[in-house]
Amino acid sequence: MSQDCVFCKISAGKEHAYKIFENEKVIALLDRFPIAPGHSLVITKKHYPDFISVPDEELFDLARVSKIVGLAVKSGMNADGIRLFTNVGMAASQVIFHVHIHIVPMWEKEPNFTWFRRRAEITPNAANYILNKIKPYLNETLFRP
Ligand SMILES: [Zn+2]
Repeated sequence: MSQDCVFCKISAGKEHAYKIFENEKVIALLDRFPIAPGHSLVITKKHYPDFISVPDEELFDLARVSKIVGLAVKSGMNADGIRLFTNVGMAASQVIFHVHIHIVPMWEKEPNFTWFRRRAEITPNAANYILNKIKPYLNETLFRP
């Protein structure tokens, strides 16, 4: 665990998070500064600085949970599509140096999506409202290996 890493603190239960899903290797949670409603993250519980540092056996869980949570975000937020991405390095706008996959719902009605719009911290009410929309769509059958 890295001392000042917010995702390590969340993994250790020392910092609150709006969790969508958790297993022994990964956690899915709402981004606290969403660029769109339903913007979620999937992180490894162990500290790896970025995607290309993650061992192959951990990538499987990261990818599989990203798929399942991606489906739930798309359905729960009634989105037309989702954007899954991860930033590697400061030059790629990585801010937290603990691997995380972004899941961002996209709607055809809102084509003027901008990466650089001001990001406000999500309120507890908004977070709970969104969690209640996403969680029912988590398909438990997909979690079986
Ligand atoms: Zn960390």
